Amino acid sequence: IVNYAEVTQAMAAEFTRLGGEIRFEHCVTGLDERADEVVVTTEHETFTSRYLVSCSGLMADRVIRMLGKDPGFTICPFRGEYYLLPERHNRIVNHLIYPIPDPAMPFLGVHLTRMIDGTVTVGPNAVLALKREGYRKQDMSLSDMGQMFSHPGILKVLGKHLKPGLVEMKNSLYKRGYLELVRKYCPSLTLEDLTPYPAGVRAQAVSNDGRLVDDFLFVNTPRTVNVGNAPSPAATSALPIGAHIVEQVKTLLD
Ligand SMILES: Cc1cc2nc3c(=O)[nH]c(=O)nc-3n(C[C@H](O)[C@H](O)[C@H](O)COP(=O)(O)OP(=O)(O)OC[C@H]3O[C@@H](n4cnc5c(N)ncnc54)[C@H](O)[C@@H]3O)c2cc1C
Repeated sequence: IVNYAEVTQAMAAEFTRLGGEIRFEHCVTGLDERADEVVVTTEHETFTSRYLVSCSGLMADRVIRMLGKDPGFTICPFRGEYYLLPERHNRIVNHLIYPIPDPAMPFLGVHLTRMIDGTVTVGPNAVLALKREGYRKQDMSLSDMGQMFSHPGILKVLGKHLKPGLVEMKNSLYKRGYLELVRKYCPSLTLEDLTPYPAGVRAQAVSNDGRLVDDFLFVNTPRTVNVGNAPSPAATSALPIGAHIVEQVKTLLD
């Protein structure tokens, strides 16, 4: 267990120390790959570069489409909701407690995690999000929903996993159901022990033929390397994935 925000801050500091520049709040709105350069348009500026690497998580398919390429998949967002146990339960578990993974479902079920600061979280579940960056239950986007529910691959996946999907939704809205999941591992917990904690949204690539893509996936063009699918444990594996990206960029340079 690490504080991942601090990990990314350390990576950013190293990148800057080596001469890199980081622009926050620069949403990329257009990409134009030409014979000898890539033009990147953001909300504020236009950049020209010889090569481009994109790691755009929930927007990975849209960024690849900006390059005029069909990615062959669409991102389906799944919100992972957590609760935090009150401080008095900080010693209720000494280690992480995981469920046995279901090979048919890429998401690990609700588990107990002792965080780096000693607090204990429970979660995450996996609820279909009605907005790509929908971190709150009430977040919805008509255009995201339209894209999602008109994609044959996503419809096939949702149909195939309808029952577990509905159970996840029920337990998201019905805290007592969520508690039952947690009590399998920690029977002494009560409803009052589940206090609010921020959710995350997983970017899950779904292939056009209706498969949950469970491996890392890259889509390259002559001047770009694009991370298409980087599900968990991509954060843990960030450094080797970075090394792999560098190898792919080297092949573009040849
Ligand atoms: C609830 C939850 C729990 C998880 N637990 C674990 C775990 O325990 N271990 C683990 O290894 N992994 C875990 N993961 C998975 C991990 O977070 C992802 O695998 C990882 O973050 C993927 O990295 P990424 O760089 O591909 O995408 P992201 O981390 O999503 O980064 C993409 C970035 O691109 C930006 N972006 C997107 N579109 C644009 C645009 N048009 N212009 C500019 N910027 C853009 C986004 O704002 C974002 O900052 C978890 C994920 C969730 C949701």
